[in-house]
Amino acid sequence: MANQAPSEKSLKKIERFVQHFCEKSGMNTHSDKSITDSIVKGLAANLEELGKPLCPCRFYPDKKEEAKHRTWICACDDMQVYKYCHCLLFVTPEGFPVTEYLPEDHEGRSTYGLVKDPTPELGRKLRDHAEAREKERRERHS
Ligand code: SF4
Repeated sequence: MANQAPSEKSLKKIERFVQHFCEKSGMNTHSDKSITDSIVKGLAANLEELGKPLCPCRFYPDKKEEAKHRTWICACDDMQVYKYCHCLLFVTPEGFPVTEYLPEDHEGRSTYGLVKDPTPELGRKLRDHAEAREKERRERHS
């Protein structure tokens, strides 16, 4: 996570985005508000530093370089393809990330088991891009 405290304006912008994305995707924020607050803060800090809300739950050898790709710009490709949020920002009502659409060897499956999508009719704008996503994961380790 980034260290600097983001401005109130950036925090509000990310909060609005999170609320809007929950409505669009049918997902929820976590019942433990401290989880959501911490990710919102990280996203807002990256928005200020990089001009884009890069996922704050990952390590990047070069953040500026990573921000040139859309892979981990929230809502990231794993969310848009598989509806999977490894940060737990977008979760089921029970507080788990959806894992049902992930490849079986994905770390999300081994961590959480099979978690069904409670709102399959919503979200997954890039659902047809799984092949490209897995190719990128292999070739760019992202
Ligand atoms: S895993 Fe994806 S959807 Fe979840 S906070 Fe990170 S970028 Fe956003």
